[in-house]
Amino acid sequence: MKTPIPFIDLAAQQARIRDRVEAAMRRTLDHGAYIMGPELGELEAKLAEFCGARHAIGCSNGTDAITLVLMAKNVGQGQAVFCPSFTFAATAEVVAFLGATPYFVDIEPDTYNMDPASLKAAIGEAREAGLKPVGVISVDLFGLPADYDAIEPIVEENGLWLLSDAAQGFGGVYKDRKVGTIGVATTTSFFPAKPLGAYGDGGAVFTDDDDLAALIRSLLFHGKGEDRYDNVRIGMNGRLDSLQAGILQEKLAIFPAEIEERNRIAARYSEGFENLLVTPHVPEGSVSVWAQYTVRAPGKNRDAIVAALKDKGVPTAIYYPKPLHQQTAYENFPAAAGGLPVSERVAQEVFSLPMHAYLDQETQDFIIDSVRSVLQRV
Ligand SMILES: *Cc1c(COP(=O)(O)O)cnc(C)c1O
Repeated sequence: MKTPIPFIDLAAQQARIRDRVEAAMRRTLDHGAYIMGPELGELEAKLAEFCGARHAIGCSNGTDAITLVLMAKNVGQGQAVFCPSFTFAATAEVVAFLGATPYFVDIEPDTYNMDPASLKAAIGEAREAGLKPVGVISVDLFGLPADYDAIEPIVEENGLWLLSDAAQGFGGVYKDRKVGTIGVATTTSFFPAKPLGAYGDGGAVFTDDDDLAALIRSLLFHGKGEDRYDNVRIGMNGRLDSLQAGILQEKLAIFPAEIEERNRIAARYSEGFENLLVTPHVPEGSVSVWAQYTVRAPGKNRDAIVAALKDKGVPTAIYYPKPLHQQTAYENFPAAAGGLPVSERVAQEVFSLPMHAYLDQETQDFIIDSVRSVLQRV
């Protein structure tokens, strides 16, 4: 057992692929095409094949990936885009950054993903408030795909588009559909700690729409037209660099085996915590990539649990201590009527345990035993 126990063990993964990563980096250093080198196209082809999307477009990070889709959809002033409040800030940030209104929706207490009923209510409320609903950003929180069968009809009935923010969920499955093929576009992040992480910033947009793909490729390259010095629209610098694209190919090669391992560990955790904690619920037909393994102990003092685990040498993290609609930067944006009680409650209760593909059985047992003994005392 490694001590101290790492929350995410990127070093163990690096040791496994270090030779291949060094060789990939050396290839980039040798040819010298640091931007738009051959690694980018190779990675995009592999990512598209992996998830079954027609187009995979590498970009600078998961935040820019969302921004690029919203720019392509002309999101701006007077428009409402619906998203959960219990998520990483980037999901709502880009909506506000483009001058539109992020409209916060509540989540379901068992999956922590968007509550379709709350979404439906919020769309009606936004219209009454004089906003123009245009789109929905669902989030595959903690690696679990959102409830797309329930969300998609609401999106369609209201003439909206759906963007799937799979920064945490890429690699997952929703009822025979792979994450990357859902919505008008799916976005992901290659931030180092995400399930598929680079050694720096990176992201991708997935879509089956040829026109949307072409538009996004232009937008991420300063609105280029025929070539890079032909500027036909306002864009941004949103490219993924060759070194990261090379590294990511090595990471992608071991990703399926890592997802299986994460699922084995999650299953062992959930068995070990049965009747003790609210463990993550994975609906029938869904495969999570376990970006986080997040639990709750309603009625118990979370701070005391986390402190006692720390004393035992078990690291934890809290995703997320405050939902976005209660954050200083977002508290003036609208939220579904009646407030967002589930988001507010779970933010007080959740904590996440170490989760990565290199957690050996001895460490898993130590964590399970530690949690069990701490919960008997607090
Ligand atoms: C990490 C994350 C992002 C942003 O990705 P970056 O690559 O850090 O910009 C967006 N949405 C969610 C849900 C995330 O977890």
